[in-house]
Amino acid sequence: MTEARYDVVIVGGGHAGAQAAIALRQEKFAGTVAILAAEPELPYERPPLSKEYLASDKPFERLLIRPATFWTEREVDILLAEAVIAVDAAERVLRTDSGRAIGYGELIWATGGAPRRLTCDGHALRGVHAIRTRGDVDRLLAELPGARQVVVLGGGYIGLEAAAALTKLGKPVTLVETLDRVLARVAGEPLSRFFEAEHRARGVRVLLNARVVCVEGSDKVDGVRLADGELLPADIVIVGIGIVPAIEPLVAAGASAGDGVLVDAQCRTTLPHVFAIGDIAAHANAFADGATIRLESVQNANDQAVIAARTIVGREARYEAMPWFWSNQYDLKLQTVGLSAGFDEAVVRGEPAARSFSVIYLRGGRVIAVDAVNAVKDYVQGRALVVAGAKVDPADLANTGKSLKELL
Ligand code: FAD
Repeated sequence: MTEARYDVVIVGGGHAGAQAAIALRQEKFAGTVAILAAEPELPYERPPLSKEYLASDKPFERLLIRPATFWTEREVDILLAEAVIAVDAAERVLRTDSGRAIGYGELIWATGGAPRRLTCDGHALRGVHAIRTRGDVDRLLAELPGARQVVVLGGGYIGLEAAAALTKLGKPVTLVETLDRVLARVAGEPLSRFFEAEHRARGVRVLLNARVVCVEGSDKVDGVRLADGELLPADIVIVGIGIVPAIEPLVAAGASAGDGVLVDAQCRTTLPHVFAIGDIAAHANAFADGATIRLESVQNANDQAVIAARTIVGREARYEAMPWFWSNQYDLKLQTVGLSAGFDEAVVRGEPAARSFSVIYLRGGRVIAVDAVNAVKDYVQGRALVVAGAKVDPADLANTGKSLKELL
């Protein structure tokens, strides 16, 4: 029997789920709204988990997306520690892991992803951590005081940010990347080499083209064995090798999916009355030439949430937001706009040695993305070039005597 019914149920209390509830109320949606959240905390910001929160620079309370009173005042019911395990799309009923049955008028699926785990021997030893939730980071921080060596697996943003935060805390860090450069999947070579050099300069041992064979230890981790035979001593291993979209119940209910749940420009899945937003939503992105992709960013989570909310209240809306992202490592603030995948030319503007520069990506002569390091002006002005898909002479882009604004 259905215990409760809400006009809109949002599954997942992360960035996308929280923003969907906020947007519904901003759109004057007067119906009942609930968020079913697997985690025990009110919605909080995830990016600081590998930055200020890991470095112990920011307490958890400052991570909350909104204070508790906000949700009660707006009559958004948040059911914490309640994970949805099944969706009946015909009856419009959800089942949770605590045995509850909750009915919905419209469903917004916003469940993000689970960290991809290692599959090799030793992957479940004590001391092996992911960084996805507050719980993950609290467990890691609890082990940190006694830790002498940290090994980070994965040279993506989360791995690099974790390496920076732990270095700041005085821990010796070795970072292991399978490919021949860090950030290989998301950035051009100049940016990768810059961040690699920065980490090395701060004392991080960066190993490229390195493959993990197993994690060694009896009860707790002792080290990480590489394919070349080297054993990297470790008391803590951080695994930052991506996420697996948390979509099983929706797929079992019949939603079309590939790498993520397929959604249209209104964030509707192929199931009636079911939307999907955030990290899990595989959508045709105008800035990826219309290719179906997932984006793992706060921008995408928030903007898709607004589109789903507007569609629910009957407003016309299409998801065509400009992708943007940021990463903080040491005193470096990277801001990126657009999607660089598929670029055929990368122009370096400014001097990486000066620790303030940009990489501007072109395809077919048009600007498609900008990575700006400690270069806010380039980020802001470069954004306009990306929006316009501007055709600009690469020599002009590289000329710091000219502002990017002048090139539009
Ligand atoms: P999430 O925020 O992951 O929220 C999903 C929620 O759903 C989780 O709480 C999960 O527990 C819950 N859930 C899952 N399954 C169920 C279920 N069956 N029932 C109920 N609840 C469920 N992006 C940036 O733009 N800039 C950054 O600097 C940046 N840094 C990051 C650093 C870290 C450490 C991480 C982990 C991510 C970072 N990101 C960053 C990415 C960004 O945080 C995500 O893109 C964003 O959180 C996606 O929002 P979401 O709501 O789709 O997923």
